[in-house]
Amino acid sequence: MTAKPNIRDLSLEEIETLIASLGKEKYRARQIMKWLYSGGATSFSEMTTLSREFRTRMEGIARIIEPAIDLAQTARDGTKKVLFRLEDGLLIESVLIPGRNHWTACISTQAGCAMGCRFCLTGRQGLKRNLLPSEIAGQMTMLRRHTPEGPRIKNIVLMGMGEPLANYDHTLKAIRMLTSDHGLGFSNRKVTVSTCGIVPRIAQLGKEACVNLAISLNAPDDRRRNQLMPVNRKYPLADLLRACNDYPMPGRRMLTFEYILMAGVNDSPTDAEQLARLLRGLRCKLNLIAFNAFPGSDYRTPTPEAISAFQQILLDRHYTAILRASHGRDILAACGQLSGEAPSGRGFPPQE
Ligand code: SF4
Repeated sequence: MTAKPNIRDLSLEEIETLIASLGKEKYRARQIMKWLYSGGATSFSEMTTLSREFRTRMEGIARIIEPAIDLAQTARDGTKKVLFRLEDGLLIESVLIPGRNHWTACISTQAGCAMGCRFCLTGRQGLKRNLLPSEIAGQMTMLRRHTPEGPRIKNIVLMGMGEPLANYDHTLKAIRMLTSDHGLGFSNRKVTVSTCGIVPRIAQLGKEACVNLAISLNAPDDRRRNQLMPVNRKYPLADLLRACNDYPMPGRRMLTFEYILMAGVNDSPTDAEQLARLLRGLRCKLNLIAFNAFPGSDYRTPTPEAISAFQQILLDRHYTAILRASHGRDILAACGQLSGEAPSGRGFPPQE
């Protein structure tokens, strides 16, 4: 017997096909989507604009499953890390980052990650599995409904655990759930996909979703990028930057390059100059992030002086180079620190 599909994994068109098997009109699929994404329905019985008979028949052919919030912790700087438990018991994490008047949600696309970046705690775990569309978009629907910050989330970054473009089909489907008017209705200008550089998928994403693109760069040359990020051996910098150059960026959008500064590895003035030369001609901004140490990590955080000197060289060469405050360091919620493991202490209580 095949398991009933989770309706939250289905697109509008797939729900239309599903309900056509019950002889129901297409427009009913939009009503169901509205209940799921705006109404927060967790069962078909709540969908009171559908007839009782239809609801009962839906229960017979589909399920509604969302990730469950297991734990939420708050860091000293206000950043929140939310641990989700999936249907099979796996744990994944999202992070809520405070801005001046809004919040940014950083969500995961895989449990663990196969890409093996040397500076990343998630990468040390290896890949457990790809997340389903309902598990990717479901982090957002749950954060929206069950955290006090939910209604003020304005930006979404797919930059949590995992490499979004290594789980391309599910990530794309989740992006459509997040950005369509029958889904969560976010503008695609407010959604950013961060990748370590899977070149063929970058081109595909540009054609199929037109969301913002961030590249986790972290080195100014192939030799060091090969050491830090094994993906570079397959897709070296020249190929990656060509894909970036071709990525569609309507209006005033800019590519983002993330550069984690590691003491003695990639943080010298010469490295900054090399980086400036490498990115010349690309419409981009740089996010500089001081490496966040985690238990057992091989790298160190640079001194504040080294970080400022690095940034100044880029500013002098007319780059927008922002030093990103490292959010949530004390609860391992900062960039590269997500592990999907429950800590011993409890933060704010899990949902009912
Ligand atoms: Fe995976 Fe991103 Fe960590 Fe690299 S930095 S191992 S792509 S989660």
